Amino acid sequence: MSIWKEYYQPRSIEEAVAVLSSSPAPSNIIAGGTDLMLDLNQGNHPPVNALIDITEIEELKTIDVVNSEIIIGACVTHNQIVKDQNVQNNADALIEACGLIGGPQVRNSATIGGNVAHALPAADGTIGLLSLNTEVEIASATGKRRIPITEFFVGPGRSILEGKAEFVTRFFVPLKKACQGSAFKRIMRAQGIALPILNNSVWIERDGDLIKEVRISIGPAGPTPFRAANTEALLRGEIFSDETIALAQQSILGEAKFRTSPRRATAEYRRQLVTELFRNTIIQAWQRTF
Ligand SMILES: Cc1cc2nc3c(=O)[nH]c(=O)nc-3n(C[C@H](O)[C@H](O)[C@H](O)COP(=O)(O)OP(=O)(O)OC[C@H]3O[C@@H](n4cnc5c(N)ncnc54)[C@H](O)[C@@H]3O)c2cc1C
Repeated sequence: MSIWKEYYQPRSIEEAVAVLSSSPAPSNIIAGGTDLMLDLNQGNHPPVNALIDITEIEELKTIDVVNSEIIIGACVTHNQIVKDQNVQNNADALIEACGLIGGPQVRNSATIGGNVAHALPAADGTIGLLSLNTEVEIASATGKRRIPITEFFVGPGRSILEGKAEFVTRFFVPLKKACQGSAFKRIMRAQGIALPILNNSVWIERDGDLIKEVRISIGPAGPTPFRAANTEALLRGEIFSDETIALAQQSILGEAKFRTSPRRATAEYRRQLVTELFRNTIIQAWQRTF
């Protein structure tokens, strides 16, 4: 049995939405195909009626700065992000996340849209974008809408797009201001399994020695890409110090829900790693606020 019946390559967002709306279910958007093609070929995804390849839509392939935001198209590849001067100047966490994904071949074809839309709790690009307060633009037959990335995920591998004729078109990342910085770090098995044992991204804003604002994302630390909201609240307004970091480390252990994944790590191993990973990441982000 063939794993898809029809393959479409629309040239505009409107055309893609029309094909998606009119194709009999199940039909799937495909971008770089680095996740979806493997899943289809290996039988981890049921055969589909239509694949709608959105990589020929020019406006999904650009990175622009408009007003106070970087706008990243869903079909921008990880390598494109890593090389982009505007992202380099404003979003260290995203540069570091995308620069670590797969190897050069994967980074040349895999897209940031596919990374987020697959909705895996440990996807590196997703965890980077989560700490950067990103908004996601979604296109449907009724037009486009923007939502905070925190509202996009509903479960492991599940997003609010499920069952709808909608797809992700762009990401909006706020430009970096004075006294702000971000960093991303991860722990990975040596033998190239696609997702990390653990990753962490921190965005922080300084007011003198005080933490004015902070966002912490960790993967995998729950059924969806995880923001450590309690720890963020605990850190807000505190002096940046070893004591404060130690309190935050305990807080993360209290709110993150680590699990055992057979080919990557046990929950207990992740609990042991997360405190030091977080310490290194927040210190790096803080140093970048100067
Ligand atoms: C060898 C290897 C190593 C990898 N290493 C890493 C790694 O280190 N870190 C990591 O995070 N990931 C890794 N991955 C996973 C994968 O490469 C990334 O998640 C990639 O960003 C997926 O993008 P894609 O364009 O290939 O998505 P696709 O495979 O095209 O699509 C993935 C899913 O998202 C949906 N989709 C794609 N684009 C959109 C859109 N715009 N709107 C709505 N739905 C959409 C598809 O329908 C599909 O369900 C690796 C994969 C391989 C094969």
